[in-house]
Amino acid sequence: MSDEIKSIHEFDLNIICEYYSGLERQGPGSPEITTKALGFIDNLTEESNIVDIGCGTGGQTMVLAQNASGNVRGIDLFPTFIDLFNSNASKLNLQDRVKGIVASMDDLPFQQEEMDLIWSEGAIYNIGFERGLREWRKFLKKGGYVAVSEASWFTDERPAEIEEFWEDAYPGIDTIPNKVKQMQEAGYVPVASFILPDECWIKHFYELQDVVQEEFLKKHAGNKAAEGFIANQRHEMQLYYKHKEFYGYVFYIGKKI
Ligand code: SAM
Repeated sequence: MSDEIKSIHEFDLNIICEYYSGLERQGPGSPEITTKALGFIDNLTEESNIVDIGCGTGGQTMVLAQNASGNVRGIDLFPTFIDLFNSNASKLNLQDRVKGIVASMDDLPFQQEEMDLIWSEGAIYNIGFERGLREWRKFLKKGGYVAVSEASWFTDERPAEIEEFWEDAYPGIDTIPNKVKQMQEAGYVPVASFILPDECWIKHFYELQDVVQEEFLKKHAGNKAAEGFIANQRHEMQLYYKHKEFYGYVFYIGKKI
């Protein structure tokens, strides 16, 4: 990679990190949905090991830790997010059993069969749903659970505009039955799958970004990369409002056998 391309790339990453650091969540979801998904997991004790992969600043991880016993680790590629994660854990007095670690989801710093529960909200797409489920399986104990939320099609057919957007953004998007089948083929019993309600996108994600976007544009006035980033965010949001009956996030919960 040339220095010029590298610096543009790093600049974009800094912008993305700065933008999302100002938000409690970095993807669609809600405390109620995290708790609902947790309701399908049994056998957790104070000795249990839980990991939240692609945890961001830890909005959902803290909910997880407050509603499940055990040691919780958050993994994210970005040190800025992990710093915020660890300070959020301390603010909630969870620092003794909740720790954020900088690592990549394709090179996890765990032993085989160390985990009782692998969690990941809106992040497995970075490695790909099938690959993530297959590669992470070895870290789970027999009888352990995986719980991930993932972009999915609700129908077999959809408008070309949204199909093209997702084919470009994440070609791994698929229908719910296909995702469940992929989970089964990766070596899990599919325990549950449910669609995240609209409010996970609107109330808990998009509406909170209006103020952040205004402040961000003011701070970076005249900066083309920053303006382009916000324009993309707004385009993505408009597409969601227009086509939300055709796609959304689905929680998939599986048990290792
Ligand atoms: N789980 C959080 C939530 O629901 O608010 C964050 C979701 S955000 C859409 C995706 C997260 O995955 C970001 O925090 C990003 O930094 C992280 N990520 C991207 N690539 C990663 C990788 N290779 N390893 C670990 N984390 C990664």
